[in-house]
Amino acid sequence: MVQTSVTPRTVLITGGNRGIGFAIAEEFIAQGHRVAVTARSGEGPAGSLTVRADVTDADSIDAAFTEIERELGPVEVVVANAGITKDTLLMRMTEDDFDSVVNTNLGGAFRVVKRASKGMLKARFGRVVLISSVVGLYGGPGQVNYSASKAGLVGMARSITRELGARGITANVVAPGFIETDMTAELPDATQAEYKKSIPAGRFATPAEVAKAVAWLAGDDAGYISGAVIPVDGGLGMGH
Ligand code: NDP
Repeated sequence: MVQTSVTPRTVLITGGNRGIGFAIAEEFIAQGHRVAVTARSGEGPAGSLTVRADVTDADSIDAAFTEIERELGPVEVVVANAGITKDTLLMRMTEDDFDSVVNTNLGGAFRVVKRASKGMLKARFGRVVLISSVVGLYGGPGQVNYSASKAGLVGMARSITRELGARGITANVVAPGFIETDMTAELPDATQAEYKKSIPAGRFATPAEVAKAVAWLAGDDAGYISGAVIPVDGGLGMGH
């Protein structure tokens, strides 16, 4: 994907202290944007503004936005990336396993996008990117909670598109497959090899490959793309 023009924007990425969120922040910084990340601990990459926020707490999100607006201006691009897993088989899944994953992954995106929409409506411009997963539409054993939360993001992006599309606001979903993060590095070699067999690309992706897709969706060239689900999964989820 070739970025032909870049208008500097104020960008917020939730969960930007590590993993995919950190890589997304690095990509936006490299493209010359003003970048803020939320983190409960640690820091975003050099060149970003790190603000403390817990996506399960609307007040802490509001305080983070107020700080970003003061330091960098109104948020024009929001990337809802913060997420957790609590995998276990359906029969063993507790109410808390279900609620906490949905509250963080889906509720967190709702709270952040709702707060961001204030400024976006005023500016009549906004880019919303929700980080889902191949598992959202493909499903995964032991992931009833996670998969439901990630599928919910698709309905959220499409409803935002229908509600705010005429105001210059787009909302899209990026659905990563297996990404080289601490989580996948910890898998035994045999398990990694087994997973790779099912991926047409035959490998896991780097976090930077996810970041490129996110930045492109937020960029000037993607203004007519909304309500889309963009897989970054090496072909794993084709057709889902
Ligand atoms: P990590 O576990 O490395 O990072 C998760 C991030 O989310 C951390 O920054 C974490 O902050 C933050 N976070 C979790 N809960 C909260 C909360 N309540 N409030 C604020 N921040 C929170 O995950 P990845 O980088 O691997 O994943 C990032 C996103 O991509 C997630 O949504 C994940 O579901 C999705 N994804 C990942 C894939 C993979 O293979 N890794 C595949 C498909 C999708 P803290 O450090 O403070 O806990």
